[in-house]
Amino acid sequence: MPITLALAGNPNCGKTTLFNALTGSTQHVGNWPGVTVEKKEGSLKGKRDVTLVDLPGIYSLSPYSPEERVSRTFLLNNNAGAVISIVDASNLERNLLLTTQLLELGIPIVVALNMMDVVEKNGGHIDAAALSRRIGCPVVPISALKGKGLKELGDTALSAAKGGIAPPPLAFDGEVETALQTIQGLIHGLVAPARERWVAIKLFERDEDILSQTALDPQQREVLANTIAACESSLDDDAVSLITDQRYRAIAHLTEGCIARAQGRPSISDSIDKVVTNRYLALPIFAVIMFLVYFLSVTTIGSMATDWVNDSLFGEFLPGALTGWLESIHCADWLISLLVDGILAGIGAVLGFLPQMLVLFFLLAVLEDSGYMARIAFILDRLFRRFGLSGKSFIPMLIGTGCGVPGIMASRTIESPADRRMTVMTTTFIPCSAKLPIIALIAGALFGGAWWVAPSAYFVGIAAIILSGILLKKTKLFAGEAAPFVMELPAYHLPGLKGVLVHMWERGKSFVKKAGTIIFLASGLVWLLSSFNWRFEMVEETQSMLADIGGVIAPLFAPLGFGDWRAAVAMVTGLVAKENVVSTFGILYGFAEVAEDGAEIWANLQAAFSPLAAYGFLVFNLLCAPCFAAIGAMKREFGSARWTLFAVGYQTGLAYTTSFCIYQLGTWISGGGFGLGTAASLVVLAGFLYLLLRPARRTPQSLATT
Ligand code: GDP
Ligand code: MG
Repeated sequence: MPITLALAGNPNCGKTTLFNALTGSTQHVGNWPGVTVEKKEGSLKGKRDVTLVDLPGIYSLSPYSPEERVSRTFLLNNNAGAVISIVDASNLERNLLLTTQLLELGIPIVVALNMMDVVEKNGGHIDAAALSRRIGCPVVPISALKGKGLKELGDTALSAAKGGIAPPPLAFDGEVETALQTIQGLIHGLVAPARERWVAIKLFERDEDILSQTALDPQQREVLANTIAACESSLDDDAVSLITDQRYRAIAHLTEGCIARAQGRPSISDSIDKVVTNRYLALPIFAVIMFLVYFLSVTTIGSMATDWVNDSLFGEFLPGALTGWLESIHCADWLISLLVDGILAGIGAVLGFLPQMLVLFFLLAVLEDSGYMARIAFILDRLFRRFGLSGKSFIPMLIGTGCGVPGIMASRTIESPADRRMTVMTTTFIPCSAKLPIIALIAGALFGGAWWVAPSAYFVGIAAIILSGILLKKTKLFAGEAAPFVMELPAYHLPGLKGVLVHMWERGKSFVKKAGTIIFLASGLVWLLSSFNWRFEMVEETQSMLADIGGVIAPLFAPLGFGDWRAAVAMVTGLVAKENVVSTFGILYGFAEVAEDGAEIWANLQAAFSPLAAYGFLVFNLLCAPCFAAIGAMKREFGSARWTLFAVGYQTGLAYTTSFCIYQLGTWISGGGFGLGTAASLVVLAGFLYLLLRPARRTPQSLATT
């Protein structure tokens, strides 16, 4: 008989790690809430008829956030045979809050005490047997990371599901319990007996969804309202807080005497956090770490490998070998050109950056898995909130360093619609992995691999997000206070090599896949358009259709210093996929042909761009409209074409003006004379500063309190 087991727990308690260990799959293990916005399914290792569902991380079963809705709907409707309530044992009381709610669902529950390795390392102890007797359901100590206790957990959950016996809900005390009994009396017969307690508590909390699903007549509704109101006024607190308070009391009672903590010794994590999340040191440390990550991947280790791949493999060896072979089988000239100058040059220009990307992915996975990324979200929440932004906005950005599409999707965890929209609009400012080749190309070709170029791209992205946040918050569209952001900080631990490598490969794989599909096609198209004129005669690039098309767009970018038709074309192909920017340059500068003299496209780029214009080009590509996939994701999250257009317009406008100011002011400052462009850029800058610094719009609420 098929059985479904559900995995429910707070964010960061190790659900996904456990899910992967039990199913043998490789879901992304992240160190922040929101990674698992949707539920994931897999079958239990060795048991094909047992389905395991990884629910999003939640703190409660109230219908407030999208994650809570997903989890609650699933638990209430899909009849999981049993729920594994996974808790972080190193933070037991807080984690049990959700467990107390699961106990009310009338479904068999098994509590998995995860992170027992952390508890033991800190010298603590938990009496699982005693806890199990008090709660009234099985309690299994495990370590998902170390793979301990998993077999027993699986077996226990299976037999719980087969037995079908739900644990008793917790009894509360005093007037709250009396009120709950009254409500249970009201709904008796109206709901399934196993759900009575759950519905009674939700009705007490004035849960609209449950109220509308329960067929109470007007008279009963009045009794309900009066019961709640009487209890609230007598205990002088609101209903939701009363229930939470009862839960914590029950938890204190459950765990009393079951937990032994080591005395007086601060854990290693706490000691590290004293420094790393220190009010003054946190941001400088973060800056240094991100600098090192980009420096290591783009400028040092990664670039040595990339140089080899670009210069030798795709620069000389492959084109030479392929041309030789094609000539030996008397292949038509145009076909040789398509294959060598078009497709191989295009794909090669992009794949050449794979080593750098893999180093970057590796380092990001280490930061993520060690627990540091969770701290960054926490640190930036402090900073962001000062500007009225939610720290939750930073999570999509972190995910966006891999790819903007999941980054944009992760914004779903933000409750306030205004904040969510703003995050969707600004997430792609952070350089995603597809933009990395552009950064590396500009850094290498025009700045001699200077150490600051790659990290600066990251900080330009963050600055664009923060400044956009401040600016947009002051408009009517986005006004409002940011909601505070709570999350658990998991203990630091040494990242597992396997997990990090898997994660690195997962990200790298999608990049390679893209090279084989979208970039393959786009390279062919760019070659076609750049090799023929409108009468389909094979011509020099400068006479080609593409040169004509680029020539129409190029003047738009002349004020930014890169009015070359090739740059214009590269930006347009970048809309399909950002990797295309580099592959287009590769083809247009005849990457494969000039490679023999060793100078390949760098020399061409140096001739076409001044360093200022090149940096402007980089900034433009970082900030402008993202690729079509990301625009599609934006449209999905906004649910509106108008908002999507507005966002794309804002992004491109910001990219254009920033790049314009960089080029014009930079030229002026470096002694290029004061011209019309300089004046215009000063006006733009002044306008920007005005929007940034003007007083915030007052919401009616803040008017009332001042
Ligand atoms: P989720 O948000 O509940 O899905 O949690 P994850 O599975 O993403 O795990 C959060 C963090 O806790 C990751 O860094 C995991 O490596 C770590 N983690 C998970 N289980 C354990 C465990 O048993 N022991 C230790 N020390 N760390 C764990
Ligand atoms: Mg997860």
